[in-house]
Amino acid sequence: LLPRARSSQESVFARMSRLAGQYGAVNLGQGFPSDAPPAFLLEAARRAVGVADQYSPPAGLLALRDALGADLGVDGADVVVTAGATEALHLLAQALYGPGDEVLMLEPVFDIYLPQARLAGATPVTVPLRRTEAGRWTLDLGEVRAAVTPRTRALLLNSPHNPTGRVFTRAELEALVALARQHDLWLISDEVYDELYFGERPPSLRTLAPERTFTVGSAGKRLEATGWRIGWVACPPGLAGNLAALRQVTSFCAPTPLQAAVAAALPVARRTGFYEGLREGYAARLHLLAAGLRALGAEVDLPGGTYFLMARRPGWTAAALVEHAGVAVIPGDAFAARQPAPGGLFRFAFCKAPAQLEEALERLGRFG
Ligand code: GLN
Repeated sequence: LLPRARSSQESVFARMSRLAGQYGAVNLGQGFPSDAPPAFLLEAARRAVGVADQYSPPAGLLALRDALGADLGVDGADVVVTAGATEALHLLAQALYGPGDEVLMLEPVFDIYLPQARLAGATPVTVPLRRTEAGRWTLDLGEVRAAVTPRTRALLLNSPHNPTGRVFTRAELEALVALARQHDLWLISDEVYDELYFGERPPSLRTLAPERTFTVGSAGKRLEATGWRIGWVACPPGLAGNLAALRQVTSFCAPTPLQAAVAAALPVARRTGFYEGLREGYAARLHLLAAGLRALGAEVDLPGGTYFLMARRPGWTAAALVEHAGVAVIPGDAFAARQPAPGGLFRFAFCKAPAQLEEALERLGRFG
């Protein structure tokens, strides 16, 4: 095996998508939409190909950084464009941590956070979210406080949270900011689902601690184009140039024509109510799937955001569902850093056409 990749394995998302293909399953596993991206994005890409085909500056096309600055309410000069939010998180890990450092994150944990910290030589330390009987995930601030050591460098948050759908409240974020200030920790805020919520707009961590917060975002999630690999980091003032210098050694720059298309599309999405429409559509799909799963006797946790819900039913295993029921889901234990895994839960993606959700429910019903 490769010396530094020994512990690398196919991710659960790639594996479930592969198995879904192999068994002809409805893929409610990996979180990508089945709908096409909006026409205004596709048209902007067609206009950009053949025009903006060479490298962009490492920090990103100026037009995109400016569009992001206007959209996020920051200075475009503080934004670095990346090849997806995944690269943004990798760059931040490489830039901020090193051997001996500890990074706090919440569990269930999005799987890549762990190897990204380890690749930087750091130790990921998870603090559990606890699931109540009613299917709500609670954060015990005392547990976060107790996990801080002199080696802690950063707190990595994700809200809306994948896989639980939990949206952290302003009061919770304020308490975490106070802790970060007390111990001089960086805050990394993975907000790729910032426009996908079902109640109040999630508060953005950056507004509470602009001096230490790196906000990570994703055009793939916002504009339904996960394969485009356009993500970004909004940095604390003055740090973007340094992060852009580091990103020259990973992919140098994100795909230029797609950056140009996203730059054109962001203001259109905002102006035309695209995100409101997205939320309305996903709220309807969430209710379709949740009601259908409940009718099959499953226990369903309703998310405050993301396009995932968690559910469980005795007799289900991810392997049996994909192979015998023909429905791919993500097993909850894929998000566990320590054992035992959270209570037999499965993550269902509902960013799929209603007909696919109905087909999945029918298959689950036949499976019994
Ligand atoms: N964010 C996606 C999910 O949770 C997966 C991302 C990926 O596969 N890299 O399903």
